[in-house]
Formats: sequence, C-alpha cells, structure tokens
Amino acid sequence: MHSLLPDATTRALRYLDGLATRSVAPTPAAVAQLSAFETPLPENPIAPSETLRLLDEVGSPATTAMAGPRFFGFVIGGALPATLAANWLAGAWDQNSCLHRATPATAVIEQVALRWLLDVLALPPTATGAFVTGATVANLCALAAARHTVLKRVGWDVEADGLFGAPPITVIVGAEIHPSVTKSLGILGLGRSRVRKIPTDNQGRLRAELLPEKIAGPTIIIAQAGNVNTGAFDPVAAICRHAHATGAWVHVDGAFGLWAAAAPELRHLATGLADADSWATDAHKWLNVPYDCGLAFVRDPHALQAAMAITAAYLPTEGIARNPADYTPELSRRARGVEVWAALHSLGRTGLADLITRNCTHARRFAEKLSAAGLEILNDVVLNQVLVTFGDAARTARVIAAIQAEGTCWAGITVWQGRTAMRISVSSWATTEADVDLSLAAILRVHAATP
Ligand SMILES: *Cc1c(COP(=O)(O)O)cnc(C)c1O
Repeated sequence: MHSLLPDATTRALRYLDGLATRSVAPTPAAVAQLSAFETPLPENPIAPSETLRLLDEVGSPATTAMAGPRFFGFVIGGALPATLAANWLAGAWDQNSCLHRATPATAVIEQVALRWLLDVLALPPTATGAFVTGATVANLCALAAARHTVLKRVGWDVEADGLFGAPPITVIVGAEIHPSVTKSLGILGLGRSRVRKIPTDNQGRLRAELLPEKIAGPTIIIAQAGNVNTGAFDPVAAICRHAHATGAWVHVDGAFGLWAAAAPELRHLATGLADADSWATDAHKWLNVPYDCGLAFVRDPHALQAAMAITAAYLPTEGIARNPADYTPELSRRARGVEVWAALHSLGRTGLADLITRNCTHARRFAEKLSAAGLEILNDVVLNQVLVTFGDAARTARVIAAIQAEGTCWAGITVWQGRTAMRISVSSWATTEADVDLSLAAILRVHAATP
C-alpha cells in the first residue's frame, strides 16, 4: 500500500494535469491501443503496481476528458477536488453502508448530507431521501413510493400483493419525458406505453392547461425540472395545484434542473418545486461528484420506506437511527453520500450557488457569441443548455463530428423538435471563461472549414 497508493496519486495527478491540453475525445490511436487489455485471464497473481501501470498507460489515454474543463456533453460535470479526495478516503474505509449499527460514520455523514441537500434545494426539511446510482434509479425509487401511496389510498398493498388485480393507476407525463423515466415506469409495472402524454410548448414545457379536467382514481403526474435539450422547466406550481385538488401524486424529474434552487439568480425557475410529492436529481451531474450518484427525495418518509425497506423480521431496525438500506433498492452499497457531503462542505452555500450561476453565465456567452457569428440558437437559454445548428441535419452532423475530432472541446448531437443540433451543456466546476472562448474559437474554425 505504501508504494502503491503514492504511485496511484502520481499517475492521477499526471492525468488531471494533462486534461487542459489534451484532446477531449481520445485519439483513434489511443483507442486502438486498448487491444493491450485483450489478454487471457492471468493464471497467477501479478504485482499490483503492474496492474496499475497497465491501467494508466493503456487506459488513461483512451478515456474521454470528462473531468476536464471543456467537456460539454450529457449535462455532466467533473469531480470537485474535495469529492475525489473523499472518494479515495471512503474507498480505503470500504464500508458496507446498509446499517447504522455496522457503519455509523457513513450513516451519519449521509444523514447530514441529506439534511443539507433538502436545505440548498429548498425542499421540505421533513422529506426523506436515498443515495442511489443516478437519476434513473432515483426516479424509480420515488415512483415506487408514489405507486405505494396511491394504491394504499384505495386499499391495495402493492408491496405485498403486487400489481395483478390491483386498481389501475393513471400515469400522466409531458410529451418531453426523459426516456429513462419511461424505462422506470416499465420496470415498475406501470407500463412504458400506457401513460397519458400531455403536449408541450416550443421549449418542451408541459402545457398544464391541457391536463385532464377531472382526475379520478390512483394517479401519478410526472413533471420535469430542466428539459435535457432546452433546460426549460415544466410549470410545476400549476401542475401541483391541479393535482393536489384531486389527490394525485406529483413527481418531479429534476436530474440537473433541481439545482437551480441553489442559486439565488436562478431560483425563480424552481418556483413551486417544493409543492411536489417526490423528486429525483443527480449529484454526478451538477454537484460535480464522481460517478455514480443520484438522489431520490420523498415528502412522506413512510412512503419511500414502505417501498424500499426489507421487512423488520429480516434485519431489525434500531430505534431512531436511520438505516440507509431502508430507503434504497440495494442492501450492500457504497456510501455515495460521503462525496455529496464533501462537495457541500467544501463549497458551502455560496460556493454551490456560484458554481451553478457561473455555468449558466458561460452558457449564455456560448449562445451570444455563436449567434453573433450568424449561427442559429434553437432554445431560450434559461439555464446551462444551448442548442445550436450548423445548417441542415447532414451538415450539422458533419460539423459536430469534426468538432469532436478536432479535440479542443466535446459536445453531442441531438434532435430538437425535428431539427438536428449540437447540445452544449455547461456543468463543470473546472470550466472558465477562457475555456468557453477557446471552445468557441474551435467551433467557429471547424464550422468555417467544413463543407
Ligand atoms: C440525465 C437525466 C436522467 C438520467 O440520469 P442518470 O444519472 O443518467 O441515470 C433523467 N432525467 C433527466 C432530465 C436527465 O437529464
């Protein structure tokens, strides 16, 4: 350990130091070198230092520089310094964080992180939550709590008796629902296709005035805070007013948009979010913690526990202590909340607000400069998302591929309301205005040089 861990530190620092100057996408030559991993399983032990050497020498160059300052794909950030260091320390702890009694340190740290999260995201302080792998599983957990509650209200115990023979649940979503939420609905037995889809406006916002007048029987409405293409928010306040008059459950997928509540200048976008019944977000997107970490929050703690806890007969809970496993699909799990705690502890309230605001300022700079250069921006840039086209679909795709190959920055391709576009998501703590300008110059250079 005494030579191996310093060796890992040296290699990691060399990797991180190189991020600012290397190609964001790995070179084709580096990817071709991955064949060095294609060996038979070693028959006998190999020195750990040799294992690490191969990982670094062959693996590192073939990574995408997602941890660097000019990766603008998929709305994902890099790991804040405090969170990477905390991740290493927690790895050394190697705690199986399912029970408070067995792992008090991680159970307490996660409980505190949860309290801080509810505070910065302006959610009800009495809500509960779960640290899971990502927003996909966070949506799954929150919707399981929703399923429990709406069926319990009509006298059906879904955990005990399943869905066969249960009263039907109406699920209402916006037409712009994220595909991962649709997948969660399939896993939960609520069906990927049997949802009622409400049309959206030109920014992808659910049109609340088109919600069904009368909602009867068990009903779940799924809203979105932060459309993955435009960054737009559904009118959650209006949706909640409508839903709660009839007893429907409102869930909000806020994988990145929920973080707007943490920045005073953006908080207006989050109006009404706290009125919902459950929420899902990611920490590995805008909070900039290492993969993987998503967060589910549920207003009624009993609902999440009813959906997730193993029965008392299996592992007795002890008094008031919070057992993480009572809130998550997993029993054995790593303590993802440690990096969340480290992020919030090191940033503080103002540091987090600054991170979110800074990224949005950079997004506006992208939009203004691209627009000034004669390119068309397809969305209202209200958050950290910018959609830009380079002409028709075929040319836009060619320019995006050329930008990715050029290597200064990386942004992905998307289709927004029938038009092919490049989606720039500014989500990293490491991005500076100089990185934005370097990226803009590269984008415009490639645009000019592409037929
Ligand atoms: C990214 C995203 C998801 C899925 O999150 P994962 O962390 O990849 O599971 C769900 N909804 C929205 C709006 C997203 O942006």
